[in-house]
Amino acid sequence: MALLVQKYGGTSVGTIERIEAVAEKIIGYKEQGNDMVVVVSAMSGETNRLTDLARQINPKVRGRELDVLLTTGEQVTIALLAIALEKRGFHARSYTGGQVKILTDNAHNKARILSIDAGNIDKDLKKGRIVVVAGFQGVDEHGNITTLGRGGSDTTGVALAAALKADECQIFTDVDGVYTTDPRVVAEARRLDQITFEEMLEMASLGSKVLQIRAVEFAGKYDVPLRVLSSFEEGQGTLITSESNEEDTVEQAVISGIAFNRDEAQLTINGVPDTPGVAFQILGPISDANIEVDMILQNIGGDGTTDFTFTVHRNDFETALTKLQETSEKLGARVCSGNNKIVKLSIVGVGMRSHAGIASRMFEILAKEGINILMISTSEIKISVVVDEKYLELGVRALHDGFDLAEYDEEAAE
Ligand code: ASP
Ligand code: MG
Repeated sequence: MALLVQKYGGTSVGTIERIEAVAEKIIGYKEQGNDMVVVVSAMSGETNRLTDLARQINPKVRGRELDVLLTTGEQVTIALLAIALEKRGFHARSYTGGQVKILTDNAHNKARILSIDAGNIDKDLKKGRIVVVAGFQGVDEHGNITTLGRGGSDTTGVALAAALKADECQIFTDVDGVYTTDPRVVAEARRLDQITFEEMLEMASLGSKVLQIRAVEFAGKYDVPLRVLSSFEEGQGTLITSESNEEDTVEQAVISGIAFNRDEAQLTINGVPDTPGVAFQILGPISDANIEVDMILQNIGGDGTTDFTFTVHRNDFETALTKLQETSEKLGARVCSGNNKIVKLSIVGVGMRSHAGIASRMFEILAKEGINILMISTSEIKISVVVDEKYLELGVRALHDGFDLAEYDEEAAE
């Protein structure tokens, strides 16, 4: 018997029929002898609809009253789900975040969970009840209703699982797991059985948006095994866990996935004096403009000058280029240029820690396709390259193929 915390997203509870189907699903797990705590989102589209109502009154609305409004979406689904469970002869109890109590700081619209009182839930579980909790919400120390930021129900699920020391936190959504890459780019992309928290964070921040990143960080910090699985299809989904918990598979893949990011832009300044403080003079104005810099590259100039290249989000390209042009004039640079037609491709895998030659293998694969690499950056478990955007699909497919990430096709092997 296990204690399971399950979270169902907006699409999974988007209609009355789906809520009833979720109730059936939960009962299935309950009848197998599991203790069940269920977190639900608002019905799909509901949080947007409520936000829009408030914006009709005040386009800039934020803060306390917006939270009072938005949390009603989840209050509807917890009640409906509990009603569906009761109709089927099961004892259920629904709770808002404040009733649990999920204590947060007072940062309305993006609050952080400080503590969870598991007392009520524990008592209900002992009585055999199914506990249904509203996702995405809590209360501050004065009892004000708060929300955790869009997509926050994932975090509620993980936080409850941590507080209750659940055996697993299962996130039911409209995809059946985490894939080796985006199946829209590579049809042969494969669902991963397991991935580590670290890998998932690299994949998520690189654009594989399956889970709220904060939820993954939280799960990693408290070592809560996290499983992503489909509400609509049977299957075991993808288990996200710490490296030490990973089952020893006979053949551990070195690379777990290929991530990519289309929203990149690159800026270059050539022939600036190679003196202390130059990096600060170039990047200071960029960060003062609140622009986040991703990759940075400086090369060693032989003639007392140096060249600098860095990347920013494509939305920040124009502003960054204007700032760089100003710096360029001040420093008497030779050239200042930009390119917003670039993308970033990354290979991610904890296996690269223990395997040499992964980077050169990656470069070889790209070279064979005639793809020119503009920039390279590496971390312990990730290698990223910047290439021209026209090579995105080709590059991702070549890497997916080259690192043998595609499904093993038994029929083709015969
Ligand atoms: N209903 C909230 C949202 O749409 C929270 C969630 O679904 O996770 O952002
Ligand atoms: Mg969601």
